Amino acid sequence: MSIYKAPRGTHDIFGKLALGLEKLDLISRQVFRKHNFKEVRTPIFEDVSLFTRSIGEATDIVEKEMYVFEDRKGRKLALRPEGTASLVRAYIEHRFDMTEPIGKFFYSGEMFRYERPQAGRYRQFLQMGAEYLANPSPNADVEIILVAKEILSTLNIKDITIHLNSLGCPKCRAEFRQKLVDYFASISDLCEDCKRRLEKNPLRLLDCKIDSNKFQNVPTMQECLCDDCNNHFQQVQALLKRVDCDYIVDHKLVRGLDYYTRTVFEVRSSSVGSQDALCAGGRYDNLVKELGGQQIPSVGFALGCERVLMACEQNGFFDSLQTDDVVFIALADEELFVDAFTFANDLILNNNDIRKDICLSENIIIEGPFLNKSLKSQFKLADKIGAKKTIIFGKNEFDKGKIIVKDMVTQEQKEVKLPDYCFNRQICNTDSNEVFKNVKK
Ligand SMILES: [Zn+2]
Ligand SMILES: [Zn+2]
Repeated sequence: MSIYKAPRGTHDIFGKLALGLEKLDLISRQVFRKHNFKEVRTPIFEDVSLFTRSIGEATDIVEKEMYVFEDRKGRKLALRPEGTASLVRAYIEHRFDMTEPIGKFFYSGEMFRYERPQAGRYRQFLQMGAEYLANPSPNADVEIILVAKEILSTLNIKDITIHLNSLGCPKCRAEFRQKLVDYFASISDLCEDCKRRLEKNPLRLLDCKIDSNKFQNVPTMQECLCDDCNNHFQQVQALLKRVDCDYIVDHKLVRGLDYYTRTVFEVRSSSVGSQDALCAGGRYDNLVKELGGQQIPSVGFALGCERVLMACEQNGFFDSLQTDDVVFIALADEELFVDAFTFANDLILNNNDIRKDICLSENIIIEGPFLNKSLKSQFKLADKIGAKKTIIFGKNEFDKGKIIVKDMVTQEQKEVKLPDYCFNRQICNTDSNEVFKNVKK
């Protein structure tokens, strides 16, 4: 039993999950690049006020989920709970509005929230996301949604639903807010969270997991949208329809962050439970200004890697992950160790002449040789790691300039001639062989 465990709410990523994550990273980068999004890597911690100001004081994240700490000089910092605020901070700080005529960026990395741990939810978790800054048009919203969808469908996650809503602008949302406050005042048995939020953030009541089924005939944002906001919402939907992207308008979709304006969306998958989104985002037309920049209308999304990988697992994605064939280098006679080691190194350095001579495929993993193991235990090890082929160095064959290649599946063995230079090297340079012989004695 180990004395230490990973802190509550964190997890170690290894094995298939690590491979899946690598694949997710690869696929998403290809999609981002295709759409001309450029990577920005921001620090893991930032000034705490960057988040309180952007995400909003009355949100769950700011109220109770942030990891806030003081550094040795008394600076108040927070581990980033999400990626957008940091990216916008970087955009303003480096004047990307001057240097990047198209404001498309992506990020990927660890985020931190002090939440109750549950399946697919961690206190340190991985998110990747894209932000499309300085484009107020509905096509930017749609491209963001399509990028998110493309990543998920490339990962073979088929059972996804896109939920779409508009939160309007500060102008028309004020009306909606008031309608909601009036409406909720008529409901007597609200939960504690809802009562507390009613004043500061009435929109959040709409997605309350306890009360939301009590809300019949609740006012919708749609009824309150001003002409501009309504046009924008209609145009987003028209484009989505045109490119055959299915979605449902969901009046209860409000998102937990304050900075959203107009379009908000979530992509959910029934295979990991419909309560939580695999990915979510929306438009934030006033955030850049709010954080000290120009008025720069923008839209973005973030994707929760752990949850996406859970969905991948449900869809059999992990079973289809192909790993390269392992080729095991075995020793029948230990005095050939140096030759076998050198040969393994030649293979790793991708010396294709050798590969062709012994019929190895393009992508292989080389393992071995090992000292102080019987040939039998070397074969056992080769089996355990799933080696497809074993190359055996034995004295009788090697003296004839040959090695044995054994197919671990069919158990067939054949002698293969080593390229001359492999053999010659041994004759020209016997020193290293001598060192190993001396050690053994
Ligand atoms: Zn409006
Ligand atoms: Zn409630």
